[in-house]
Amino acid sequence: MTRHKNSNKHFTRMGTRKKVHAFVRVRPTDDFAHEMIRYGDDNKTINLHLKKDTRRGVVNNQQTDWSFKLDGVLHDASQDLVYETVAKDVVSQALNGYNGTIMCYGQTGAGKTYTMTGATENYKHRGILPRALQQVFRMIEERPTHAITVRVSYLEIYNESLYDLLSTLPYVGPSVTPMTIVENPQGVFIKGLSVHLTSQEEDAFSLLFEGETNRIIASHTMNKNSSRSHSIFTIYVEAHSRTLSDEKYITSKINLVDLAGSERLGKSGSEGRVLKEATYINKSLSFLEQAIIALGDQKRDHIPFRQCKLTHALKDSLGGNCNMVLVTNIYGEATQLEETLSSLRFASRMKLVTTEPAINEKYDAERMVKNLEKELALLKQELAIHDSLANRTHVNYDAMDEIQIAEINSQVRRYLAGTLDEIDIINLRQIQEVFNQFRVVLSQQEQEVESNLRRKYTLIDKNDFATISAVQKAGLVDADGHLVGEPDGQGFGFGVASLTTKAGKKLKSRKTVKEQPSSSARKEGASSSVSGKDLDILTSKTQLTPSSKDGDVKDMLLRDRETSTIETLPSDSPKEELHPPRLSTPPSKPVAFEDFKNERGSEINRIFKENKSILNERRKRASETTQRINAIKKEIDITKEALHFQKSLREKQGEYENKGLMIIDEEEFLLILKLKDLKKQYRTEYQDLRDLRAEIQYCQHLVDQCRHRLLTEFDVWYNESFFIPEDVQAALKPGSSIRPGMVPVSRIVSLGEDDQDKFSQLQQMMLPEGPDSISFYNAKVKTEQKVTRVHVSRKAGPQGPHYWDPGSHSPRQRGGRGLCQPRESQHHQS
Ligand code: ADP
Ligand code: MG
Repeated sequence: MTRHKNSNKHFTRMGTRKKVHAFVRVRPTDDFAHEMIRYGDDNKTINLHLKKDTRRGVVNNQQTDWSFKLDGVLHDASQDLVYETVAKDVVSQALNGYNGTIMCYGQTGAGKTYTMTGATENYKHRGILPRALQQVFRMIEERPTHAITVRVSYLEIYNESLYDLLSTLPYVGPSVTPMTIVENPQGVFIKGLSVHLTSQEEDAFSLLFEGETNRIIASHTMNKNSSRSHSIFTIYVEAHSRTLSDEKYITSKINLVDLAGSERLGKSGSEGRVLKEATYINKSLSFLEQAIIALGDQKRDHIPFRQCKLTHALKDSLGGNCNMVLVTNIYGEATQLEETLSSLRFASRMKLVTTEPAINEKYDAERMVKNLEKELALLKQELAIHDSLANRTHVNYDAMDEIQIAEINSQVRRYLAGTLDEIDIINLRQIQEVFNQFRVVLSQQEQEVESNLRRKYTLIDKNDFATISAVQKAGLVDADGHLVGEPDGQGFGFGVASLTTKAGKKLKSRKTVKEQPSSSARKEGASSSVSGKDLDILTSKTQLTPSSKDGDVKDMLLRDRETSTIETLPSDSPKEELHPPRLSTPPSKPVAFEDFKNERGSEINRIFKENKSILNERRKRASETTQRINAIKKEIDITKEALHFQKSLREKQGEYENKGLMIIDEEEFLLILKLKDLKKQYRTEYQDLRDLRAEIQYCQHLVDQCRHRLLTEFDVWYNESFFIPEDVQAALKPGSSIRPGMVPVSRIVSLGEDDQDKFSQLQQMMLPEGPDSISFYNAKVKTEQKVTRVHVSRKAGPQGPHYWDPGSHSPRQRGGRGLCQPRESQHHQS
């Protein structure tokens, strides 16, 4: 036995190939043609002999003798014997999961219905159908180990239409849509056909009778000739083991088919409606015959099942994995010999068909889940025992919840940041989650980096030549694909010592510039000299260009608070490149910046440093004042408490009054004085702090301005010194029209709040609720509003009192009125 996977969770256990059993049943008659029909001694053979002279229509040279060997000839056989011979095995096999088909074929009146259904009025003459139902229920009783359900349906096919012979039952209701034959991996079924659960023999019989009655009624009311319709009674069996651990269950169906009369059209002499019916019947029966022939031919792989409703509906009941039996009903009379011959031919064709009966096994998903759950629980217990034997503390093997995952995420972050040395391994699930969180953190960081870059720069695809050339035209990138004014296309050039590697290029570029007749030609020349190849080599993977929104690259650098950051720009470039005033290769910006600070930018740098130190000093003072305020507040609280205590003591001891004046003791009096004094101190300190804050704000503004000025000046100086051709330099001499210090106003960007500001704000917020807290907060708000207004007005008007317009001073006038020295703390007051 082999196992064959038919579909998902649906298996059939294939057996060996088996031939279809074909029997012949002869209807008893007083006029039996003994000379023409002879039975073999084996009870399986039937021989036909046609007398030439009796049949005029038959030509002499035609065959006159036929011998058919079938699986049994049922002559004068009782219904009982017929059932035993034909159906019993098929039905009992169905209970084991094998599909079965029993079919009656033959001309009208030959006894098909008698064989299949039998005489409904006589129990003794009941046919295969009721007996099959009886056998099924008897076998169920004999199998207490299984829970077996039985369902039945009764289908009629008439003129290529499907009828549900059980649709009249009250609980079925009329079908809205016409029935259709549907195929799915499990087989063929009739959509819309009612299927009835029957728990006992009697119910099943009632259904059978109901169907029979409907068949008869329909033949009258609808003018249907029941002999011209096919009927299929199906018994569906489903057997589940009562042992719950057994997940498999079997299904099977027994199709009991009573075919329409097989007589030929010519013989019946039908006309009109009858003719149409006969044509149909013959057609569907001839399609059945074609299908049978195809099934009997081992070389055929296509079986024409779908040519008519009958074969389509029986698709999985003909051949395939079924046990199949055919009963050919014949008349034993001479006049019917021709039809008998045709019926026996059909039977012998059917005998050629082989089937491969197989068990229909399915898996009960619910039971499977239950069994797996049981197993899981058992394994968890095993694991717990194993853990305790291995001296491991209780390990949770359940799926992780959000909190646990968040904890792992934090561990991974700490691990990456270096604050966590190692992540302990707990179990497989945890290891998987750690890896998972690594991926999460990595992708988040990638996104962060990218969005930071995007906020600062416009990223251009390295291969997007059109955009690169557009940017070049706009003057944002030089011929080498670098930012204008940036030695290495990497911002300010921090720590990038690529001068040596790029020196050749730069020199070449300088040379080209010098050869140009005019400065305006420089850009053109440069851009036109760029080839795609050059770009490929020189542009980094993504090109960085300053985005107008956030100022230029230098601003990013300059947001650094500490003066030292600017003053100690890393200079890993060789020192000797510094000093010559005009190098063939320009020094890196950090190096040049040092130079600039000592040289042309010394005055600005001095003021910048001065402002910076004033700012730092004020900040320090503000911090100290805040600390003092906190101390005073604490003292106030303590004094208040002591006073309160004294007061309650006095109230308890009884109050003394002298001429309407309250007498209090000295201690209490001193406390009151102390409190008064403290409050005064508090207010004074507070006023100081407020002044300091205003001053800090103003200083900050100055520092920012200085810093900006320092860099702008440096930039101008740098370009002038290293990039502007000598002829152009001449034009920049004092008195000429071009002033290199001209910087567009739009580039003077407002500098955002830095950490120090935030710290100051935080200090303000953290101030304890003092005696004058309301007025304090009011004042704070007012001050803030005022500061904002001043700040805005400064920004708004380039001609404003403290606004520094770099464009109005040439570098040669540096250190002039544009640079403001901080005044003392009287700014911003009222
Ligand atoms: P079919 O369904 O093939 O048209 P039926 O089963 O209706 O033929 O049979 C026609 C008549 O012959 C019925 O009255 C039936 O009782 C009777 N008949 C058929 N076969 C037998 C039989 N083996 N024994 C007794 N009566 C039979
Ligand atoms: Mg019939």
